[in-house]
Amino acid sequence: MSTETSSARHQVVVIGSGFGGLFGTKALRRTDVDVTMVAKTTHHLFQPLLYQVATGILSEGEIAPPTREVLSSQKNVQVLLGEVTGIDLQKRVVTSHVLGREHVHPYDSLIVAAGAGQSYFGNDQFAEYAPGMKSIDDALELRGRIFGAFEMAELGAKRGDNVDHLLTFVVVGAGPTGVEMAGQIAELAHRTLKRDFRAINTRTARVVLLDAAPQVLPPFGAKLGDWTARELEKLGVEVQLGAMVTDVDERGLEVKYKDGRVERLNTVTKIWAAGVQASSLGQTLAEQTGAPLDRAGRIGVNPDLTLPGHPEVFVVGDMIALDNLPGVAQVAIQGAKYAAKEIDNRLKGKPAQAPFRYFDKGSMAIISRFRAVAMVGRLRLTGVTAWLMWLAVHLVYITGFKNRVTAVLHWFVSFLGRGRSERTTTEQQIFARAALSRLRGGATDLVSAPGAYDTARQVLDESRRHELEVQALEEARLTDSGARGVKHPASS
Ligand SMILES: Cc1cc2nc3c(=O)[nH]c(=O)nc-3n(C[C@H](O)[C@H](O)[C@H](O)COP(=O)(O)OP(=O)(O)OC[C@H]3O[C@@H](n4cnc5c(N)ncnc54)[C@H](O)[C@@H]3O)c2cc1C
Repeated sequence: MSTETSSARHQVVVIGSGFGGLFGTKALRRTDVDVTMVAKTTHHLFQPLLYQVATGILSEGEIAPPTREVLSSQKNVQVLLGEVTGIDLQKRVVTSHVLGREHVHPYDSLIVAAGAGQSYFGNDQFAEYAPGMKSIDDALELRGRIFGAFEMAELGAKRGDNVDHLLTFVVVGAGPTGVEMAGQIAELAHRTLKRDFRAINTRTARVVLLDAAPQVLPPFGAKLGDWTARELEKLGVEVQLGAMVTDVDERGLEVKYKDGRVERLNTVTKIWAAGVQASSLGQTLAEQTGAPLDRAGRIGVNPDLTLPGHPEVFVVGDMIALDNLPGVAQVAIQGAKYAAKEIDNRLKGKPAQAPFRYFDKGSMAIISRFRAVAMVGRLRLTGVTAWLMWLAVHLVYITGFKNRVTAVLHWFVSFLGRGRSERTTTEQQIFARAALSRLRGGATDLVSAPGAYDTARQVLDESRRHELEVQALEEARLTDSGARGVKHPASS
């Protein structure tokens, strides 16, 4: 275990390097504090573009720059890798782990921005066959599975097999992510890949978008939802509403429709884009404060985003349940900036701010190239105008100038041409998650325990030195005695 030494300066610990974590940390750049950012990945992830990584438009680096690089010029920040496993509100310490090693970070103020993961509504076993869309690992695995399914179909068709299950792609969840994924897979099948295969016609691929809800994109309202469903159907996507997934296995899924029908869809490629579950750190905080948790595991916070009884702890972004705020990037960004400002005010002896108020800058979802929907205030936009707006907004928010430049180049390739610059997939991308989850302790099982590592290193140093000395002396003796290369008569 290692404990960070505390200094006289006010210590702020930030958990998470997503929208909340990054923007909160940046907002503290001029405040007289030391900031320690602890996050379980070394990158800042721009989740809204994950589907473009999964479908070969962008590379993972373009949407996930190293947090350390992004913050390199901010001198009051130290970026540390670690999965936070404990927060002790009484002792004011955060505990994190990396490959079995424990690290402890004391704080005076804490910003918790650990976000949310995928929810399988109590059926976590579905995850084995239907990956979600929350991380770079997810996107690369899906890329491997999607392009891999076409490869397997080509092989099967060459042998004369039925390959319908390989050419059927099912996306579960008709929110923005599901719509974007379904639209992109349809574009892949109908445009990008249509000339690349010999035994299959990729244009016959079946893309199904399922949702238990009665409409597509519920947060966008009925009108935009209906427009989106029609546009998806024009693209060749089958939209099935009132369709609840009741079981998932390697070869397909079972769907129960509103009228009571139960059907099985045979498909090897299933994508889970339904439901979110807030970080389990919410539960840790709720147990210590009595703050309520909603069904998605989001924690109820005070109007100033602090925890009941703990004004030094702020929770922001996807983890909070406050005034029905949506789980979108702007809620996390604005909340984190608010928390940073509050810390700054307190240190300067200024009065507290008014309660946190979210300013809704609008929402948008892309359906395919040149088709999107957008809501800005009372304005409702569809088609090319919304698509251009989407393009401009995402370009502004992608982190880093070089990423913006390369993203634009890749968009040219995919939207004006019919290519995809990032179609590389590997076997590991598809199978590594399942392999790691079968190890009892995941990746930790693959490395020696921290103590063993230290001992092994010392033993190795001394024994290896002795071995090298003996070897060198023997080499020299052989040369000096002229014995090298001379055959001993007994061995002939
Ligand atoms: C596929 C997808 C598409 C989306 N599209 C849009 C969109 O178009 N527009 C929009 O506004 N919003 C969109 N969102 C939602 C938006 O990305 C989130 O609302 C936003 O990321 C929330 O920010 P956050 O800081 O709360 O969490 P996140 O950005 O998820 O960050 C959480 C951070 O915490 C870290 N973390 C988690 N647990 C731990 C732990 N135990 N220890 C250490 N670190 C931890 C994670 O690694 C990550 O760095 C999308 C989300 C997804 C998944």
